[in-house]
Amino acid sequence: MKKHASKPDFSSFSLSSDILSAVEKAGYKKATNVQLETIPAILKGRDVLARAETGSGKTAAFVLPLLELLSSHNIYRQQDVAHRFDGSKRASRNCIQILVFVPTRELAIQVREVFEQISAEITPPLRCLSVYGGVKINPQMMALRGGADILVSTPGRLLDLADQNAIKFNQVKALVIDEVDRLMKGDFEDEIQRIIKLLPKKRQNLMFTATFPDSIRNLVREIMNDPAIINIDELLEKPETTQRVITVNHDRKNDLLAHLLKDNDWSQVLIFCSAKRTCDNLVKKLKKRDVKAIAMHGNQEQKKRAAALRDFKAGKERILIATDVAARGIDIEQLSCVINYDLPRSPNDYIHRIGRTGRAGETGMAISLIAHHEFQHFRVIEKRNDIRLEREQIEGFEADEQAPPPPEKTKPKKKKRSIRKILHKRSENSTLQNTETKDPVTNKKKREPDTTVNPHIWGNR
Ligand code: AMP
Repeated sequence: MKKHASKPDFSSFSLSSDILSAVEKAGYKKATNVQLETIPAILKGRDVLARAETGSGKTAAFVLPLLELLSSHNIYRQQDVAHRFDGSKRASRNCIQILVFVPTRELAIQVREVFEQISAEITPPLRCLSVYGGVKINPQMMALRGGADILVSTPGRLLDLADQNAIKFNQVKALVIDEVDRLMKGDFEDEIQRIIKLLPKKRQNLMFTATFPDSIRNLVREIMNDPAIINIDELLEKPETTQRVITVNHDRKNDLLAHLLKDNDWSQVLIFCSAKRTCDNLVKKLKKRDVKAIAMHGNQEQKKRAAALRDFKAGKERILIATDVAARGIDIEQLSCVINYDLPRSPNDYIHRIGRTGRAGETGMAISLIAHHEFQHFRVIEKRNDIRLEREQIEGFEADEQAPPPPEKTKPKKKKRSIRKILHKRSENSTLQNTETKDPVTNKKKREPDTTVNPHIWGNR
């Protein structure tokens, strides 16, 4: 059930009726927190740095206002952002107007689909394309010949296209970097930097990220112009996910999994395996146990992979077995259950995995099936995420040995901080508090201008 507190609906934003009608059809009733703060700032033409996780409604938070800026003339005049957008012109041959970077091809397709969905009633129609690696480049080069109002891309493929002169950046009016933290982790930094150098200097920059590692601070300093900083801690709705841990003997995992899938009426289930080969094997093993499932992983041809995702998203398939990488960024509404057939390597990935269910106020179920050799690893996951879950046994599938008790919840130890860090922090604080300085000429106290810069993100400049 979707729950929305008394937040304003979308009609409170300066959005055209075409966009509002598409928003209504998409079923969005009230704006989410990130949308509430981000949409007005983008409509004013400001650069925006927003902290927002998958599930917060961040995609619509940039899609709606960018489409408005791209399609409406009045708004440019009203808000004096004519220098950024000239809605009368469509992108010319090989040119693009809005460039969106995303870390994965699945996310590229997904974000492009949101642009298409929300722009469906805009006339003349806007052209949205997505390009990504792992498929032939030629069709993408051909598609770009006609230009695109919106291009959603992974950085590597965009560079390839630029190297082949298939794309011109002189009409770019806005750059969106979505999931910046993941992009930076994925070694895309150099590629992003190279492309940014090709873009016109006068453009709107929007960044969305769940965390703020140093690499992002540097990027923000380099490319953003007095951004509105939107630090959204709260997700769209706190995911209501029930987490369960079931202990089982390793050689009975498949039987238990088949039993759970048959015994529960979960509408859709995403099962995580650690290896690509395990995904395919598990499809076969479940088939032997009369359970139909499909796999999605990086070893498959792009066509097959896209078909698997499409069928699962459309509800044609009930069970999808995927690796972390393949499932990254997938947003499937009302995913009722996530099962960890293999445990994720990192405690962080555990959180990402269970975040796939219990989205947008829907309650969800996340189940980890752990055999003896995984007990220790699961303890680490619990400890690092500060959670503690009861171990369950399912009748008929009990593990031979008694599972060890769950770890005691201990207070996190205070981290030892290096003297250097403490001194740095102190100097940072003293600079922060010291906003009153003396004017060297008059020797009177003067107040530093109040900036929108958040020192926790930017550090001292
Ligand atoms: P995102 O954070 O962009 O991955 O969005 C997560 C999910 O929230 C998607 O399924 C969107 O369709 C949905 N969504 C986005 N905005 C809203 C809204 N205002 N109300 C309800 N659902 C929304």
